[in-house]
Amino acid sequence: DITKKIELIKKNIGLYPDFPVPGVSFRDTFSILRQPNLFNTLKSILIDAVQTHFMEAECIAGLDARGFLIGPLIALELRLPFIPIRKQGKLPGKVTSEGYTKEYGKDTVEVQTDSVTPGMKILVVDDLLATGGSLEASCHLIEKCQGDVIGCLVIIEIESLHGRSRLHVPIHSIVKY
Ligand code: AMP
Repeated sequence: DITKKIELIKKNIGLYPDFPVPGVSFRDTFSILRQPNLFNTLKSILIDAVQTHFMEAECIAGLDARGFLIGPLIALELRLPFIPIRKQGKLPGKVTSEGYTKEYGKDTVEVQTDSVTPGMKILVVDDLLATGGSLEASCHLIEKCQGDVIGCLVIIEIESLHGRSRLHVPIHSIVKY
């Protein structure tokens, strides 16, 4: 059942203490992708989560870079469009930008303006929710383009960082630490 599947995924997420800097416990989702059976299990959990919590989604937006691993997987399975949200300067054509402050310094995310149609119901996906800064900026970015953010889906949530409290849309996480 689903609880067993989630436990299996949790058990197989890599843990790297003090990466990339001392004090950070890096949770590595690539360890799942190395094992096709586990990747397939993760895929079914994600599809199930979207169908249970975000039925009305008309589009999947994924964050650079690990949101690109799961976003298109979900989008293709549900026959929805996928749109990338990237760091500044990576996307061609007319883009909309949103700056945000990180623990150390600033960053800017961008989306191709014509990829968001006004009123489109968009689900934003990423691998991990930490402080929530990246997802918060991404949601603002989509809203700037008049997209309707219906929620966020992540594989992992680091609950002690309270990222969820920064986001004003429903958040669903598969595995919590
Ligand atoms: P944040 O904006 O603080 O919520 O950070 C989320 C982004 O940073 C995600 O795209 C993650 O891939 C990455 N990230 C932050 N903390 C970790 C961590 N402990 N392990 C792996 N990736 C992380």
